[in-house]
Amino acid sequence: MPNLPNNARVQTIHKVQNGAFLQSLRQIPHFEYADEVELLIGRYGDTPQLVQAVVDDKLLPKDHACRYWADAMNVAYVDPFASVITEEAVGKIPVEIARKIKALGLYVVDGVLTVAIATPSDADLVRRLSQIAQMPVSPVFALPREIEDAIAVHYCTEKGLEESLGELERSTLFEKPEMAGDKLALLAEDTALIQVLDEIIYFAMRERATDIHVEAQETQCRIRFRIDGNLREILSYSRKLHRAFLTRIKILSNLNIAESRFPQDGRFSMQVGSQLANFRVSTMPASHGEKAAIRILAMAGKKTMFTLDKMVISQTILQPFKRLVQNPSGIIFVTGPTGSGKTTTLYAALNEINTPDRNISTIEDPVEIQMAGVTQTQVNSNIDLKFSTVLRSLMRQDPDVILVGEIRDLETAKIATEAALTGHIVFATLHTNTAPQAIIRLLEIGVESYMVAPSIIGVLSQRLAARICDVCKETYFPSRETLQRYFQDEGLTDVPFFRGRGCAACRNTGYKGRVAFHELVLITEEIRTLISQGRSVQEISQAAAKVGYKPLRYDGLKKVLLGLTTIEEIEQNTSFEWAT
Ligand SMILES: [Zn+2]
Repeated sequence: MPNLPNNARVQTIHKVQNGAFLQSLRQIPHFEYADEVELLIGRYGDTPQLVQAVVDDKLLPKDHACRYWADAMNVAYVDPFASVITEEAVGKIPVEIARKIKALGLYVVDGVLTVAIATPSDADLVRRLSQIAQMPVSPVFALPREIEDAIAVHYCTEKGLEESLGELERSTLFEKPEMAGDKLALLAEDTALIQVLDEIIYFAMRERATDIHVEAQETQCRIRFRIDGNLREILSYSRKLHRAFLTRIKILSNLNIAESRFPQDGRFSMQVGSQLANFRVSTMPASHGEKAAIRILAMAGKKTMFTLDKMVISQTILQPFKRLVQNPSGIIFVTGPTGSGKTTTLYAALNEINTPDRNISTIEDPVEIQMAGVTQTQVNSNIDLKFSTVLRSLMRQDPDVILVGEIRDLETAKIATEAALTGHIVFATLHTNTAPQAIIRLLEIGVESYMVAPSIIGVLSQRLAARICDVCKETYFPSRETLQRYFQDEGLTDVPFFRGRGCAACRNTGYKGRVAFHELVLITEEIRTLISQGRSVQEISQAAAKVGYKPLRYDGLKKVLLGLTTIEEIEQNTSFEWAT
């Protein structure tokens, strides 16, 4: 349930008093900018532009400035990019009106619509909104710029996009797709084209997509989104727009627009509200024309819009993992393919031990989540700032806990194991399919077994499966063969399973959101001996099983029985192990 302003019902909204605002700022200990604020009041008076200016001039952090301003009006402040926003609430205000008066419906609770506006003290406006929505309205304050961007994101629809694309296709501008680079660059600067691409990105963010694929096919082109781990076709468009789209994406990411025969990699950022959203771009030549894949990285410090549903970790994994994290030294690995939520898990682990008496440092590529009290450093290949370079310097920073985003090379692996052996706790990720394989991977990279054996203390492997949509969830009884095949050991008969029927909330896919499943290897003395003897993955797995290790799919099937996901999803996300 969203946090309702506690004065939502009986609300006496004060007309804005910038005097009250300034007065409360003066009471902040060590606040040095009262004179500057006074100057701004002279310029902007009693308007929300005043707060925007205070934030822009960095006189006060955004959340603080907005809260003091809202307090001066006796309303609540809501950051639209950190708030729950329901489709129902958005739909209460038609898009033209929302854009015109800059108002965004956030949520409906007990028949009252909470609306973010820049001037909640405007009683006439609130009354009009209430008539439009045909229900009582509780206004909250948000910055005008953030409301505008949130409107752009939340009113983006497939239909609207199709219309914008249709208009572009009818334009004569794009008639000759085989043109030279400089002409193409001009085309890619076309306002309508830029806007459509922005809309596609907003729409992807709204749909919680992790990747956008822009690709040419023989007769037409298409845009696909990866949502909850599965690719879905979202839009198709005419081939004549394709090169202009690709060029625009390349310009955004600082790539060479004249080069289409070689793959290229780049990045770009986009201002969304007060946040910077980051994207990683890869282009690749293909038989029907270049393809672009855009990975949507989390907004720094604000994962809310992209957040996975709260991780539901099985108790049999969670309890030992929590104990592991409290160890004073050793390496803990989290493994899994790209996009399996390793960073989320690592940060959850760091959060457990993030106390003022520990020096925690991270090396990441890129920094995806900002965490207070932690020193975060981003590697930078442009200036040759590598994992190993940062890690070596970090060792001279008197660290207690180190998070290494990814171990890929021998140098980083060596320093990390040494750190673990000299009284530090090290968290790191590795790309392996199973937890036991991580141990072997370190040996393969070239770390000596006498270093690996004593340094590792545990490996957690993780996957994500699409979660069954809560809205259209239904029970069914699987066939005998299915039960036999997956649950023969448990002797299950007649247990109900769950699936999503498909509804508007889940785009008829039956899935919405994701759920993680895990396997955990705790390193015992027996396993240490096996490692130093250079034994196989199988032998290590067997030894791990003696202290409770169960392979990934076991935890996955547990989540099937809990009604969180389906057998199909588990099978799809553990296919590698399936074969063995
Ligand atoms: Zn559904």
